[in-house]
Amino acid sequence: MSETILVTGGAGYIGSHTTLALLEAGYEVVVLDNLCNSSPESLQRVARICGKQAEFIQGDIRDRVLLDELFASKNISAVLHFAGLKAVGESVAKPLSYYENNVAGSVTLCQAMAHAGVYRLVFSSSATVYGEPTQMPIREDFPTGIPTNPYGRSKLMVEELLQDLARSEPRWSIALLRYFNPVGAHTSGLIGEDPNGIPNNLLPYISQVAIGKLKQLSVFGNDYATVDGTGVRDYIHVQDLADGHLKALQTIAGDSGVKIWNLGTGQGYSVLQMVQAFEKASGQPVPYQLVPRRPGDIAECWADPAKAAAELGWKATRGLEEMMSDTWRWQSANPQGYAH
Ligand code: NAD
Ligand code: UDP
Repeated sequence: MSETILVTGGAGYIGSHTTLALLEAGYEVVVLDNLCNSSPESLQRVARICGKQAEFIQGDIRDRVLLDELFASKNISAVLHFAGLKAVGESVAKPLSYYENNVAGSVTLCQAMAHAGVYRLVFSSSATVYGEPTQMPIREDFPTGIPTNPYGRSKLMVEELLQDLARSEPRWSIALLRYFNPVGAHTSGLIGEDPNGIPNNLLPYISQVAIGKLKQLSVFGNDYATVDGTGVRDYIHVQDLADGHLKALQTIAGDSGVKIWNLGTGQGYSVLQMVQAFEKASGQPVPYQLVPRRPGDIAECWADPAKAAAELGWKATRGLEEMMSDTWRWQSANPQGYAH
């Protein structure tokens, strides 16, 4: 019989792509999502792509009663935990929402898991926990830094509480996956990133400029010590990221303690290189203006993906061109995202 995986936040951007990868690999999937930043349409599209359906439960990870019922009624063997809030600027304005959803929500989820005897957990962390490293590429054994905002601090707090939890009880087997910059969409163009309002992240912003929804991109700073003065990041295709979750899920089965893996490509690109690559893939102009640096941004950030390659047998296989053309296919086929 196949395993059943609980995916919190599974209707969201990365969660929907990972749900698809799980279904395609033969897992049964239960998605728990409160839809605060997503549409149930994403899961309909997942079903269209693979011909299999995840079971969807609309609900909140902070709802202990619901979680207890869920674990009692389904034979869950592990949890992929994506649910949380992720907008950096909003986290500065509403820190309590971030600590409540991301930190308290994770505590409640872990309590319910322990109560149900489910001890295998894969957590969505972020390269933001490294703060401002002095050396590139970033390895997992680098010290965690001081995140510059409540969102980043909430991720680091959850990492630390999960470490404490694993130290307290050897049955826990936990993967902390530190994502670099997830971009792209499924090759079908049916699922992708559907941000609420004006996007904060670079690629959704660029693609909305290309489609004509936004006038021009603001490039935050061209005076960094980088290849062309603009910020450099390690962009990773969301389908590669989804595959990384499956590998982590399988690798930590029957294990004990906390394992940490960077999920990145090992290759950095500047903002202007991204603009150029997007123009090439889409055939659309992307007008931009140079503006001052965005507070809290670092100059450059890219992963050393060697540990994930050695221990998970996982490597990102999709290059920049594919990230751009898949983003464009999704954006041009769904100019209003899922809302139409
Ligand atoms: P997303 O907003 O598309 O997905 C998160 C999902 O969680 C949404 O569907 C939302 O409705 C749901 N959710 C939020 N709070 C919830 C709650 N209390 N109970 C139940 N459901 C809840 O975001 P994403 O980009 O898919 O990110 C997934 C995870 O990965 C997040 O934890 C995020 O912090 C982390 N992450 C994302 C990035 C990125 O750039 N996208 C980078 C690093 C880490
Ligand atoms: N960026 C930009 N304009 C935007 C959004 C982002 O110039 O409208 C730059 C940002 O300064 C950084 C890179 O693009 O160098 C990636 O930013 P994003 O917010 O996507 O991810 P981050 O690495 O900050 O999490």
